Amino acid sequence: MYSVSAQVNDVGLVKVPLLPAPEFGIDVAGVTAALSGPEADRIKLVYLCSPGNPTGSLLAKEDVRAVLEHPTWNGVVVLDEAYVDFAAPEASLAEWVAEWPNLVVMQTLSKAFGLAGIRLGAAFTAPPIARLLNSLKAPYNVSSLTAAIGQYALSEKGGLVKMRENRGRLLEQRDRLLREMPNVEGVGRLRGGVESNFLLYEMLDREGNPDNGVALAVYEKLAENRGVVVRFRGKEHGCLGCLRITVGTEEEVTRFLAELASTLAEVRGEQK
Ligand SMILES: *Cc1c(COP(=O)(O)O)cnc(C)c1O
Repeated sequence: MYSVSAQVNDVGLVKVPLLPAPEFGIDVAGVTAALSGPEADRIKLVYLCSPGNPTGSLLAKEDVRAVLEHPTWNGVVVLDEAYVDFAAPEASLAEWVAEWPNLVVMQTLSKAFGLAGIRLGAAFTAPPIARLLNSLKAPYNVSSLTAAIGQYALSEKGGLVKMRENRGRLLEQRDRLLREMPNVEGVGRLRGGVESNFLLYEMLDREGNPDNGVALAVYEKLAENRGVVVRFRGKEHGCLGCLRITVGTEEEVTRFLAELASTLAEVRGEQK
């Protein structure tokens, strides 16, 4: 989405791939070099995502700090924390905006709060950038309906109680998937972290190698014949043969595990 938004806004892009799985950490040397190169003063924003999508990994705090501390580059670091509510407590770096005037931390009600339909998120940043964002936006505020639901969602006795209950159930099912996925024949390694509401797993061919053909066929059969939708992520950097599996309710996970096992057996049985 970052590159789509950049393209829509006619903004150039410098990509620095994450370090290899399973950590998927920031390539600090690579980012530092990009921000020190001849084009560095044309780079205005650095986007980081923690926990990442589809990696599910939290970025190391010292790596984020290293980017913020770049000795010469003078731009803004945007940290996307869309999934941070599923991560370990204290994972968010939102409080760092009090210390770093060049940091913007973004969160959303679209994920853990289940409110993607109201289109509400938040940016945390120091007053100079907040003033800039306020003067850039259209004069109209978020809609009153969105504001009312958002206020309820974030109230200590209302929506927050509900969100924490739902999250507790979700984390139990995430732990269950982590226990049970290795027992499914044809499922390979977990790639990435366990800090989000999805897990990234390899699908293996009959020789035991991660395989995009198997992953894509499993994805398609699950969606078309079994009514189970996961995401094929085999073409993303470092995700060969991977499906991204969103954690569901207890019933959904039960059904998913059964359908995955039989679909994998079918697909691998058809392989030459
Ligand atoms: C879902 C998501 C967002 C936020 O989406 P909105 O619905 O627009 O708030 C941001 N970043 C990532 C990586 C996401 O997956």
